[in-house]
Amino acid sequence: MTKLGRTALRYAKMLRWPIVPLHWVDDAGHCSCGDPACRAAGKHPLIADWPRRATNDPATLARWWQKWPLANLGVALGDGHVVLDVDPRHGGDEALADLEATHEPLPPTPTVLTGGGGTHYHFAAPPDTPTVTLAPGLELKAAGAQVVLPPSRSAAGLYQWDAGAHVADLPLAPLPDWLLALAHQVRRSPGQRSTELPPVITEGARNRWLASLAGTLRRRGCSEAEILACLRILNVSRCQPPLDERELAKIARSIARYAPACPPDAPAPRSRRRIIHLGVIHAE
Ligand SMILES: [Zn+2]
Repeated sequence: MTKLGRTALRYAKMLRWPIVPLHWVDDAGHCSCGDPACRAAGKHPLIADWPRRATNDPATLARWWQKWPLANLGVALGDGHVVLDVDPRHGGDEALADLEATHEPLPPTPTVLTGGGGTHYHFAAPPDTPTVTLAPGLELKAAGAQVVLPPSRSAAGLYQWDAGAHVADLPLAPLPDWLLALAHQVRRSPGQRSTELPPVITEGARNRWLASLAGTLRRRGCSEAEILACLRILNVSRCQPPLDERELAKIARSIARYAPACPPDAPAPRSRRRIIHLGVIHAE
């Protein structure tokens, strides 16, 4: 068995963590999913329904890594195990430094360096801890999320336990109270709405998301044909299952009835923008 497979078994045995096999990258950095433009190369699950199928059963893990010897390792979070994900490319390191200055420094806890400059702090937390974006580049990942584990490799490099903060040497620290309180506060705050597209848009949310995107494109002056072309791409890459072509055409057509609110030389009046945004939200 490969080192990845052996390590999966070790995490399962030592920590009882539910492990998920992830796609991997080749030497050129291409994701094994085959999508040349994959946005999560080597970081997304190989199996469908992974939150339910993630396991610490040695026989299942052995079978998976025999089938996919190069598969990267992920751990399904929740159930008392959370990760603070710091992405410095989006300012997460500064946001965390500000929070630590206001509250207190994070306690020593198992820590992964992601190879791309990011850091994952693994913590123990109550089971109802929410998955939330605390600040740009700073996310608390819990139930419904997974993170990549060492010794996986993505296009950006090798995932490694930080020296002195290896999970074999250090127990998970409890998530600091101030961080837990902040997570619940952000979750409750009605003004908090992520503008980021979720990686997977499921039935029930597809129409709303695509209509909202179409509205954004229209505000920037896109034509019906341009909007429809974008919707087709996003429909295939994000929607599970994809919406049918007639629905896409309907969204593009209804959004394009509105005048582009932002011609190159003049910003739209606020009321117009709101109409476009709210105008075409179909119920699924
Ligand atoms: Zn991929």
